[in-house]
Amino acid sequence: MATGMSKGMQEPPDKTLLHSKVTLATIFNIVGTGILLIDSETQTILEINKTAEDMIGRSRETLIGQACHSFICPAEKGKCPVKDLGQTINNAEYRIICADGHQKNVLKTVSPLIIKGRHCYLESFIDVTERRQSAEALRQSELKFRFLADNTHDILWTMDLNLHTTYVSPSIEKALGFTPEERMRQDVTQQLTPESLAIAQEMLVQELEYEQSGQAEPNRVIMIESEYYHKDGSTLWFENAITGIRDDKGILLGLQGVSRNIMERKQMEQKLKEMATHDYLTGLPNRALLDDRFSMAAALARRNKEKLAVMSLDLDKFKTINDTLGHAAGDQALKTVSAGLASIIRASDTIARVGGDEFVLVMQETNLPKDAVTAAQKILDFFREPLLIDGHRVDLSTSIGIAVFPEDGLDLQTLIKKSDAAMYYAKGHGRNQFKLFDDGDVSIGADHKSE
Ligand code: GH3
Ligand code: MG
Repeated sequence: MATGMSKGMQEPPDKTLLHSKVTLATIFNIVGTGILLIDSETQTILEINKTAEDMIGRSRETLIGQACHSFICPAEKGKCPVKDLGQTINNAEYRIICADGHQKNVLKTVSPLIIKGRHCYLESFIDVTERRQSAEALRQSELKFRFLADNTHDILWTMDLNLHTTYVSPSIEKALGFTPEERMRQDVTQQLTPESLAIAQEMLVQELEYEQSGQAEPNRVIMIESEYYHKDGSTLWFENAITGIRDDKGILLGLQGVSRNIMERKQMEQKLKEMATHDYLTGLPNRALLDDRFSMAAALARRNKEKLAVMSLDLDKFKTINDTLGHAAGDQALKTVSAGLASIIRASDTIARVGGDEFVLVMQETNLPKDAVTAAQKILDFFREPLLIDGHRVDLSTSIGIAVFPEDGLDLQTLIKKSDAAMYYAKGHGRNQFKLFDDGDVSIGADHKSE
């Protein structure tokens, strides 16, 4: 028991107050620390306060006079940590035995004390079982998290609100080539492509606004696809599941997320998109993509008061290649012709395979009919050189019909109808030539196709 006041402490108004027996007894019993007074010779309990009684679960009467070892202290007789083993116990973790036999973790201090010439130990302790349990639960959860973080292929990460990485799992090295230490030194611009960064920043701004609305659901998870840089300079797509890190008042402190590589899915999506918009054999755009490109080109042409040319091409006597060299050689010829046509058109133009040996070319910003005539001539010239198919030199030509937007039609269907009519006219008049729809000779319905 303290006998003097330390410097800075206020003097009690009545100096005799602390020396009053009643006051000391009251303090002894209401203090939230368990207190035991032990006779150091006999190691028996001399006194116990109310808090210790409650913690141990036994009444004062059943405890006074009992030996403390093996009864409330798990140490056996002769192995008292203080008396027999000479330990100093100062705020250290020990156990006490409770009435029901189970043990509690306590933080204990033992001080030697002489009361009226009798050598005693004053033991004071607080129950830390719950604290210990939650620390253990935290440790277990930390171990579980470490195991997952160290063994997953996904990347686990946390970021502050400036999008600076504050933690990243070791899996990042296998996934993106950077070590966690390298990642934490990186700026976010070194992590995401500019497009993905813009989307991430936009998302963060929206989230913070939503947050301030006071209606935000705290545990919501946002899914976002982002393109990350690999250390080797390539880029990879990841799907991120992101949620907020909050303090105990719910204030957003940062973000945490799991990033999963979705390259396979992206490649599959790309392939499906490719299949939906391109011809499987030649890789050229198909009719659906041509429709799209035409719509864009027509809108631009309308705005700039320009024209477009739509050309129908049909290979001449193509069937004979199949008949003489076989279907596979015919396929090869279609591929070679397609690659050749794609190489001679401008990047702004689109050539599509719309049927077996039929192609449609949409030309933009055309000075008509001059540019279309030049382009048609260039195509006919391309066919002058025999194609090399399976080691055979194959002579091939094409017939071409040309229609013009907006004179001959405003939609692609109408324009193709007219360019087809012109193409059939060219076929019917000797093949290997082009024909403009509007030169008076061609009319729709007059199919000049002849053998
Ligand atoms: P024409 O000058 O009148 O156009 O004669 P053609 O022999 O080219 O006949 P047409 O255009 O009417 O028919 C095209 C032929 O192309 C029909 C078919 O045998 C062949 N064909 C269509 N699609 C394919 C294909 O994917 N691969 C191969 N190898 N042949 C095809
Ligand atoms: Mg043909």
